[in-house]
Amino acid sequence: MGRHFLQIPGPTNCPDEVLRAISAPTIDHRGPTFAAMGTRILEAVKPVFGTTNPVVIYPASGTGAWEAALVNTLSPGDKVLAFETGHFATLWKTMATELGLVVDLVPGDWRHGVDTDVLAERLAADTGHEIKAVCAVHNETSTGVTSRIGDVRAAMDAADHPALLLVDTISSLGSIDYRHDEWKVDVTVAGSQKGLMLPPGLSFNAVSDKAIAASEQATLPRSFWDWKPILAANEKGMWPYTPATNLLYGLEVALEMLADEGLENVFARHQRWARATRAAVEAWGLEVLCQDEREHSGALTAVLVPEGVDADAVRALILDRFDMSLGAGLSKLAGKVFRIGHLGSFEDLSLVGTLGGVQMGLNLSGVPIKQDGVQAALEVLEQR
Ligand SMILES: *Cc1c(COP(=O)(O)O)cnc(C)c1O
Repeated sequence: MGRHFLQIPGPTNCPDEVLRAISAPTIDHRGPTFAAMGTRILEAVKPVFGTTNPVVIYPASGTGAWEAALVNTLSPGDKVLAFETGHFATLWKTMATELGLVVDLVPGDWRHGVDTDVLAERLAADTGHEIKAVCAVHNETSTGVTSRIGDVRAAMDAADHPALLLVDTISSLGSIDYRHDEWKVDVTVAGSQKGLMLPPGLSFNAVSDKAIAASEQATLPRSFWDWKPILAANEKGMWPYTPATNLLYGLEVALEMLADEGLENVFARHQRWARATRAAVEAWGLEVLCQDEREHSGALTAVLVPEGVDADAVRALILDRFDMSLGAGLSKLAGKVFRIGHLGSFEDLSLVGTLGGVQMGLNLSGVPIKQDGVQAALEVLEQR
């Protein structure tokens, strides 16, 4: 009975309004009703990226939009600078290598965001401007660390370097402050199933004028991902192939909800849940993975378990006893952390329930914790 607690950091819980919209009958994607809706959505999606430029929408998971960002802007053998902030940054690097790009991956400890000092050094050393793109993951979903993209841009400007800036916001868009135009990002990659509160199946490329100009020269093979025919069809609110019609119904409603609330309020409530969660973790006597006060994620918190404890066993017990799914530690963090998602359709009392489930699960797993965690979170949530 009751509701499954899906507290992984994506896919997230969808608001009932969104689910109801998605359940409407599918319509003709070449007809006038669809075209009017497509035109509305392509405008309404821009503010959430902080852009007035076009946003390309794909019927694909976020991984597809990663590929789209690379193949539209780069050519075989192009040099790309990337940062090993965690699992997702590493996967994007692997994809870039497989596509024929030459990636310089700056090593990281998975507890910090993009190191802007190293970025500045690499750019300063690249006097021949061989680096064609800088890739950064805004919110590393594997670690709960949010890179400071404004500072990344500042380092690129200070070096007066012409590289494109490509940013993955798959788990931050719609939950953490993000500004495509202000930070002069060239391609922003996003997905539907995290902050945007939709099921999986849509992904996005917000594109700058500079990115569109680069796409005229770029020679990596592309067909399905090619921006050009999509942008042309989008002029009339259409797509060159069958779009994910029902997910677009949901997207229109989700964008309306975010706009009605005001993005600043949306970002603030995620930061507040993150603060409450950290208060609980500290009061249990456990450690948050993120080590930089400026970089705590508003979307999720990764919690280190003590040496000798298997985080996956704790998660399995919590699922079995309390019907709650928490995020697993990915690749080198497997078994060492669990991740609490506090994004998507969510509210204070769901956070209390989530943290209550975690506290009970830690106790039942025999993890030595102090019993003050939930209380510490309540004290944060009692504040306005
Ligand atoms: C979820 C996620 C991805 C992968 O997206 P899919 O939709 O699973 O393809 C990539 N990057 C980040 C930061 C993510 O959180």
